[in-house]
Amino acid sequence: MTITFLGTGTSQGVPVIACGCAICTSTDANDKRLRSSVLIEAQDKTIVIDSGPDFRYQMLRAGVKHLDAIVYTHEHKDHIAGMDDIRAFNYFQNSPVNIYADFRVQKALIREFPYVFDGTGYPGIPQVIVHPINLSPFNIGSVKFIPVEVLHYRLPVLGFRINDFTYITDAKTISESERQKIKGSKVLVINALQKQTHISHFTLNEAIDFALEIGAEQTYLTHISHRLGKHEDVSKELPPNIFLAYDGLKIDI
Ligand SMILES: [Zn+2]
Ligand SMILES: [Zn+2]
Repeated sequence: MTITFLGTGTSQGVPVIACGCAICTSTDANDKRLRSSVLIEAQDKTIVIDSGPDFRYQMLRAGVKHLDAIVYTHEHKDHIAGMDDIRAFNYFQNSPVNIYADFRVQKALIREFPYVFDGTGYPGIPQVIVHPINLSPFNIGSVKFIPVEVLHYRLPVLGFRINDFTYITDAKTISESERQKIKGSKVLVINALQKQTHISHFTLNEAIDFALEIGAEQTYLTHISHRLGKHEDVSKELPPNIFLAYDGLKIDI
């Protein structure tokens, strides 16, 4: 299985205009972050977790020509806004794309993209097959997903453990019982927004403490605000085996 980081950024503090900060003006490609998403290429399925506003460009940039499924963590705009662009995959595959979402995310998708779900079948609209998920494990082909519930302030968000790989974004609080599901992962991805305290996201130190507790062989930090600092500088501050993820990073696991 190959994991590709399609994006490692966030809408929190994302410079939608060039604000002139050290990140906006950095010439290091690792400081150029699209909204957070990962591509999972397994033997029989190609899956993305979340389809934020940058989805279309992320698919182009990563050269993804076939997409079986999108699995959603939660309904915030930086995680769902690009769903309309699956229509290109519908066209080339001549088939719907499978959407895996819990009940609350399904309601948000219907609210945001009513034309997809209104039953008119208007030619050219995105075609999806919705698969409801909850905290029970589910399979997409041979790929087994174990949902992990984390809290994003008060909003429950799903992370996913897939064999020895766990992907968690937008966490601020993780219960002891959910931590048990994550322990034993060889590769952990966890969100680290910035150094300053935030109501709904792990800070850098909170993410490091969590990573040390889980003790994965490798931990990658994602969902990074430009306020965190430059990739090169922050990387030097991290303990062994904890790394800042960057757009385009690939991991074989
Ligand atoms: Zn969020
Ligand atoms: Zn987010």
